[in-house]
Amino acid sequence: MSHLNCRKPLAQDVVNKIAAGEIIVAPVNALKEMMENSVDAGATAIEILVKDGGLKLLQITDNGHGIEVSKECYKSYRYANQTQKDDLPILCERFTTSKLKDFDDLRSIGTYGFRGEALASISHIAHLRVTTKTAGSSCAWQAYYQDGKLSPPKPGQSSDPKPCAGRPGTQITVEDLFYNIPNRRRAFKSPSEEYARILDVVTRYAVHCEHVSFSIKKHGEAGAGFSVAAAASKIDRIKQAHGAAARELIEFKTQNDRWGFSASGYCTTANYSAKRTTILLFINHRSVESSAVKKAIEQAYQLFLPKGGHPFVYLSLEIDPARVDVNVHPTKREVHFLSEDEIIDMVCTDIRERLTQVDTSRTFKTQT
Ligand code: ADP
Ligand code: MG
Repeated sequence: MSHLNCRKPLAQDVVNKIAAGEIIVAPVNALKEMMENSVDAGATAIEILVKDGGLKLLQITDNGHGIEVSKECYKSYRYANQTQKDDLPILCERFTTSKLKDFDDLRSIGTYGFRGEALASISHIAHLRVTTKTAGSSCAWQAYYQDGKLSPPKPGQSSDPKPCAGRPGTQITVEDLFYNIPNRRRAFKSPSEEYARILDVVTRYAVHCEHVSFSIKKHGEAGAGFSVAAAASKIDRIKQAHGAAARELIEFKTQNDRWGFSASGYCTTANYSAKRTTILLFINHRSVESSAVKKAIEQAYQLFLPKGGHPFVYLSLEIDPARVDVNVHPTKREVHFLSEDEIIDMVCTDIRERLTQVDTSRTFKTQT
């Protein structure tokens, strides 16, 4: 039958779109990638604006080091500046990343964002606008991207980045996410659910990133949905994001050279008990999920909490990057690492000991 013989390979743009949809499954995935880029750029202030759960608009503004703009752009606007490299035009090409120079870097890299796929992916499934200014540039530059390439703001216009006014840092605007994947778009029933997921990841980073201010706002609303000042302490940050849990925290810290890790964080005492476990887990400064960590922590608390009671734990793990496998899933959510059992066991032993100490000192106090 002829129709069996005429199978054609998928067109490249369809392939790109499918790949992008696997990395950016929901608005929260795009926001997380962009927020991590802001943190990587050394930002101390991060502002987020969301409309319709991020499906209509996701905008993130930071005061980080900005993105270098190509010599050609400068020349064409007669702002010749020989020291600038070409970055803005290639920003959204797949696997373009300033964090990965060659394969060896994979071992020494301190961040997870080494795949150079996030912005490229977003450009395949949304309208993307980037405005950026480095400290050394006399103006900001603005560019639009579509399908991994610079694109004109309006049909018929030039797609070259344009100089404009702006503060140092970067603003990334993502509009109409999944506009070209109607099935995916329809699958999102509730913008408020998507907003809640975005808020969750923002508050995680707000707890983790000391010295950085965060604010997130829904479009059209006057006040911020959540905000934290740059000067806020760790406990303040947890209080802003998780209220009651912050009143019952103990700090813990442990490290071990043999297994090549250090761990620090805060966990609630036996006085605190919630309906569900909350774990804010950071591995090498990236928010990740680990069902192994969650299970072990819940077990550690079993002796201390009434049945059906659950803890709040913020845990920051630093592990030799060569031992962490972040690419088990395209969204980099669930993470595995070498000697997982040993490391988790040591962390949970430490938490248990701290809980016991607090417990006995309290018993002692009430007895005297
Ligand atoms: P990756 O983070 O894996 O390198 P991304 O697609 O997330 O890939 O980003 C591509 C590149 O764009 C980054 O390596 C960085 O150089 C630049 N970039 C993106 N966002 C920002 C930002 N907010 N500030 C400065 N540079 C940025
Ligand atoms: Mg990134």
